[in-house]
Amino acid sequence: MKKIIVAAFQCESNSKARLKPTKEDFEYFKGEDIFKKLVVKDVFESAGYKVVPSIYAVALPSGTVTEDIYFYYEKQIMQTVRENTDAVGVYIFFHGSMEVDNIGSGELYLLKEIRKIVSPDCVISMTMDAHANITAELGEYANITCGFKTVPHTDQKESQLRAAHALVKALDTGVKPRLFVQYVPFLLKNDTLLTGEEPLKSLIAETVEYEKDEEVFSANLFLGHCWIDAVNTCASTVVCADTEEKAEKIAKKLANELWATRDVYKFKIEAEDPEECVKRAIEGKENRIFITDSGDNTTAGAEGESVEILKLFLAADPKKKTCVAGITDYDTVNGLWEKKDGEEFFFEKFGVNAKIKSHGEILGWTKEIIGKSITVSVGNVDAVFTEYRSAFIEKGNFDKANVDLLGYKIVVVKLGYLFTELKPYADRELFALSDGASCVELKRLNLKKIMRPMYPLDEFEWKA
Ligand SMILES: [Zn+2]
Repeated sequence: MKKIIVAAFQCESNSKARLKPTKEDFEYFKGEDIFKKLVVKDVFESAGYKVVPSIYAVALPSGTVTEDIYFYYEKQIMQTVRENTDAVGVYIFFHGSMEVDNIGSGELYLLKEIRKIVSPDCVISMTMDAHANITAELGEYANITCGFKTVPHTDQKESQLRAAHALVKALDTGVKPRLFVQYVPFLLKNDTLLTGEEPLKSLIAETVEYEKDEEVFSANLFLGHCWIDAVNTCASTVVCADTEEKAEKIAKKLANELWATRDVYKFKIEAEDPEECVKRAIEGKENRIFITDSGDNTTAGAEGESVEILKLFLAADPKKKTCVAGITDYDTVNGLWEKKDGEEFFFEKFGVNAKIKSHGEILGWTKEIIGKSITVSVGNVDAVFTEYRSAFIEKGNFDKANVDLLGYKIVVVKLGYLFTELKPYADRELFALSDGASCVELKRLNLKKIMRPMYPLDEFEWKA
């Protein structure tokens, strides 16, 4: 039976983030267990292929990946490949923005290694995040990539299935698709690029139309990930088709259309500096107002350690019940852990009298408990400190921390835009343009290695 190797290896990197991923940061499965997470198995099996599972190693966004950690997982995938050199297909679920110290693109490196071993006819298909930074060389090593078509992402499963079906189609027809990458020299605030809104809505619809063509295996827009300082950091269009000419023609057309939209992306929500957000939240008449601390967005790789907005609220001493959730601070959690709920103490770190409100747990990215949290009250302001980096993306995170989300009028979380799960609780959303590893102000990121000219840093004409 003809074999298809299946794996997933992801870590969205952030060059400014200090915390590098450790083994504990990766959700990991091996062998058949990878299909607890990947949905492609049935597609391959029902088409008559034997599935060879390798590993699933997926980390929270973090700093760049060290070589040690990278090779720990890379070697396991390569072992599967070496044991199955006769595989006719390889499917990998990547993020597409994994930056490895001294190596560069982790995806590209792995693809090169796989290509050295598998037969030249082997078809390699991938799924990637819409924020992938695609290297032009990718087309030399892989045949198909299917990027998410939604931001915020809701089509991870569909994108796996599209890449799996495209792989089966290539193998069944004997066509070896050509993948063409066209860079688009813009780097925009990720949080302004939403596929539910125009013009991206129509551009995505256009890629779907192209995919109806029998000769087109996939058509994609990649919006880039501005937090990696690397040569391949920018947007791109990637098309996979029967011939390179066809792929190139469509990719260039899409690239010119995407480029033409570059100056229309604006925040659809109130985006202001932290001081203004705090002021507006305090004065706002809405029932519950959320502020997102976008510069310290843990879902984009930032540490979540910033207390800038907490300090603003402490200084403002608001009349409204306020919660600042998910401040990473190992020492505070463990230093206060033995104190009882209701116990008063002097909080030296902030120079204020405070009270322990509650002890709790951190609900991790993978819905498992990953550590302890402690909530401290200062007047009407409650601050939730967590031992390890956390992301308060849903009500469940507040529940596990033992704080009542519904009891607050103002809630601060370390996100970019609010996750859909929190939207029902937000009567108003303020996007704080704060500083930090996930700062959205491109000029402040000070990227040195990116290609120039780059919009909006430079003024120039461009055509694909
Ligand atoms: Zn993404």
